[in-house]
Amino acid sequence: VKLYAAVDLGATNVRVAVGDERGFRGKLIEAIDVQNGADGITAQIARMIETLDVEELDAIGVGSIGPLDLASGRVINTPNLPFKDIPIIEPLSNALGVPVKLLNDCSAAVLGEHSYGAGRGLRNLVYITLSTGLGGGAIVDGHLLTGKDGNAHEVGHLTIDPCSELVCGCGCRGHWEAYCSGANIPNFARMLLKGAKGNVPIKPSTVERSFTTSEALFSAANQGDPLALWIVERIGEVNAIGFADAVNVYDPELITVGGSIALRNEALILDPIRKNIGRHLINRKPEIMITPLGDEAVLFGALALAKKE
Ligand SMILES: [Zn+2]
Repeated sequence: VKLYAAVDLGATNVRVAVGDERGFRGKLIEAIDVQNGADGITAQIARMIETLDVEELDAIGVGSIGPLDLASGRVINTPNLPFKDIPIIEPLSNALGVPVKLLNDCSAAVLGEHSYGAGRGLRNLVYITLSTGLGGGAIVDGHLLTGKDGNAHEVGHLTIDPCSELVCGCGCRGHWEAYCSGANIPNFARMLLKGAKGNVPIKPSTVERSFTTSEALFSAANQGDPLALWIVERIGEVNAIGFADAVNVYDPELITVGGSIALRNEALILDPIRKNIGRHLINRKPEIMITPLGDEAVLFGALALAKKE
């Protein structure tokens, strides 16, 4: 039996698991060590794998936050960690003496969905994460698309409105992520409350409230707060545009959705997308569902990557 290590390198946490091709035997999750330079991160991953006590490891798969430079096996210029250049493949393969394979986290997730989740047997599949940031991965005609540097499917940076007052973390104006990522939803809420005025179907006194985190907004919406529900509906309308763009570009049979915002608020997120997507589609509407792999989609993808020939 071949043994593999799977790594999900996120913006705040790193997950490591070991297993064979059927699934995992052991898992660890830790906060990313940012105290010891870029090398400290790979040292941490190597230590976590060794902690899981694998004697005969065959390969390691890594699904990582981007952007990547796939040719040299590194993460470069990521806005989410305090290092410009994080080598992954070389230090990990030196430390553990096995081949290391690297993919963007959402590309890994769609591979995981294809191998272990709802996408088994499908040839056209898209995965979208709605979390602190927005991202996607795509398998088209049975092929995993990666792009020249490994950064295909940056769907969060599709433009919704180039004249928008919302500026994306990447510096561009009006990107999807500037409206609907966990980090930016409070900005969108503020814009809506400021601009909509008389159009907000809530009594003026309650409009004074603001939602300073996306958690607070969804928590209020889950309790039936009418203003929060109105904002969540507007978020869903923008998400529907982003999802429609992905459908028009990739023509998938299925879109699976992950990321903490979607996983915790299934109906609040998916219902408005399903309701509004048709207005923006030219392609036939695919099935849209929450990933059955939950918050381990990237980890399953890293396992599928590790065992890939
Ligand atoms: Zn952007």
